[in-house]
Amino acid sequence: MQWIPNILFAIILIAGIYYFVSNVKKLIRNIQLGKQVDRSDNTSERWKNMIKIALGQSKMVRRPVSGLLHIVVYLGFIIINVEVLEIILDGLLGTHRLFLPILGTSVYGFLIGTFEILAVLVFAAVVVFWIRRNVIEISRFLSKEMTSWPKNDGNNILYFEMVLMSLFLIMNASDVDLQEAGVGNVISQFIHPLFLNLSTETMHLVERIAWWLHIVGILIFLNYLYYSKHLHILLAFPNTFYANLKPKGYFPNNKTVTNEVKMMLDPNADPYATPDTATDAEPEKFGASDATDLSWVQLMNAYTCTECGRCTSVCPANQTGKELSPRAIMMKTRDRVEEIGKNIDQNKGVFEYDGKQLLGEDYITQEEIWACTTCNACVEECPVNIDPLSIIMEMRQYLVMEQSAAPQELNAMMTNVENNGAPWQYNQMDRLNWVEEE
Ligand code: SF4
Ligand code: SF4
Repeated sequence: MQWIPNILFAIILIAGIYYFVSNVKKLIRNIQLGKQVDRSDNTSERWKNMIKIALGQSKMVRRPVSGLLHIVVYLGFIIINVEVLEIILDGLLGTHRLFLPILGTSVYGFLIGTFEILAVLVFAAVVVFWIRRNVIEISRFLSKEMTSWPKNDGNNILYFEMVLMSLFLIMNASDVDLQEAGVGNVISQFIHPLFLNLSTETMHLVERIAWWLHIVGILIFLNYLYYSKHLHILLAFPNTFYANLKPKGYFPNNKTVTNEVKMMLDPNADPYATPDTATDAEPEKFGASDATDLSWVQLMNAYTCTECGRCTSVCPANQTGKELSPRAIMMKTRDRVEEIGKNIDQNKGVFEYDGKQLLGEDYITQEEIWACTTCNACVEECPVNIDPLSIIMEMRQYLVMEQSAAPQELNAMMTNVENNGAPWQYNQMDRLNWVEEE
């Protein structure tokens, strides 16, 4: 009978890990729906970027208040969860505070004391985040894409963290052994008097309830990640590692177009020659109209987006009242790839055409993508190196090259370039007329 809690614990733990692993598999499958792109170059620079930006949070602190609070929550949350190792072993083995005799009172006390201080700091930082979102109502959290689920998701995470930190402290405060040993109870000793009126059995029951809720809460949180913007705590690392290293403003030449131009300039070129390499061959489609036309890095970008809105807050198009929000571009891309993934799951591994695509009224409109000035401010500002502009440019390429659907002003300019070698509508022969006018 005394093994029942241990068996129950093992079942809950295995179920939690099983669902987490199946969500990770689904995530990887969805990201791999994107096209191949080679990001295996410059590995040392990539490691440096990942350590500086994802681990060191170097871009977060450009906005010092939210940046520093984020570091407190991030470090605190990760360090406190080291405690989970002891909880899991206690749960499986039926022990209580297994590491106390192993580490000794001074080391164990130091660790628990550090965790308790961090728990208070995390709680305080999370409360400030909640106030910024719900009381001060900072404008970047109020945009139209931040209603319904994204708004609730932002708050859910804060509530989760408040509850988990509180349970951790209550668990310690009601733990008679810990309080009597007087090790590391730097914060919980002040909560402990609240339980002194309880009988020993009731106090033990409170401790057990807090212990179970704490570990079950952590497993629920782990499985909530896939459905949340909080997925960035895992994906920020690969995302910064595989980010584009080319200078901002660099756009790769379109191989097929380059080859066409070369052929026009070379009188000996054979128009029927087989392309030298597979990459020289004409692609099935120019640009992107759906999520699966994007690269796997762009799809990973979409899953990594923290929905912080820093990109949108610096976007000149958004600031001047245009439809465009780079954050919305990333959120819609994630929604669409999720929709495609579900479609594949429902149709035994095959995508069944659903009459929708990423570019169009269902998701990203033409009005949005033509509002972009290609200034790169969103890319520069993103704390996890996401590139919304690359998605916008792929969609523009699709519209121009596949649909001939550029805005009228651009079509006129392109016709002028073709006919006159310049964007203006003057004949090349008239270019020097201004000299004669002098
Ligand atoms: S590149 Fe486009 S989307 Fe990004 S900030 Fe500039 S205008 Fe906005
Ligand atoms: S793209 Fe980057 S800056 Fe924009 S909302 Fe997502 S994480 Fe924040």
